[in-house]
Amino acid sequence: MSRREFTKAVYAQIVKRAMLPSGEIACEGCGLILGKKRYHVDHTIPDALQVDKRGKLTAEDGKLLGWECCHKPKTANDQGVIAKAKRVEESYLAMQRPKQKIRSPGFAKSQKPPRISKPRLPPAQLYAPIQETRR
Ligand SMILES: [Zn+2]
Repeated sequence: MSRREFTKAVYAQIVKRAMLPSGEIACEGCGLILGKKRYHVDHTIPDALQVDKRGKLTAEDGKLLGWECCHKPKTANDQGVIAKAKRVEESYLAMQRPKQKIRSPGFAKSQKPPRISKPRLPPAQLYAPIQETRR
C-alpha cells in the first residue's frame, strides 16, 4: 500500500505548531531552534507500519523534526523496524519469498584430460625377507 503524505493544510498546521512565539521554528523532537536548517515533517508512526490507512493524516500524525538532529537518525531506525515487521508478517502468514532462477548460463563442461600411460610399479615388498640366524 502506498504511503500517505500530509496535505498542504496539515503540513502548514504542523509547521505553525512547531513555531515559537518569536516566529522561529523549533524541532519537535529535541527543541533545537532550527533557524535556516532543514527540517522535515515526519510520520510519527511510520506509515509503512500503519495497518489502517483509510483515515486521513492529521497534524497529530506528524512531527516537525530537524533534519540533522532528529529526522536522519529516526529514519535509519525506522527502516530497520519496517523491514523486521515485514519479515515477521511474512513468517506469520507463512508466505514464501519467490525463488529467483539463476539467469546466467553457468559454466561450460570441461573436457577430462586424457589418461597418461605409466609403467607399472614393481610389487611392493611388505615384509622383510626371512633371515637365517646362525648360532
Ligand atoms: Zn531535533
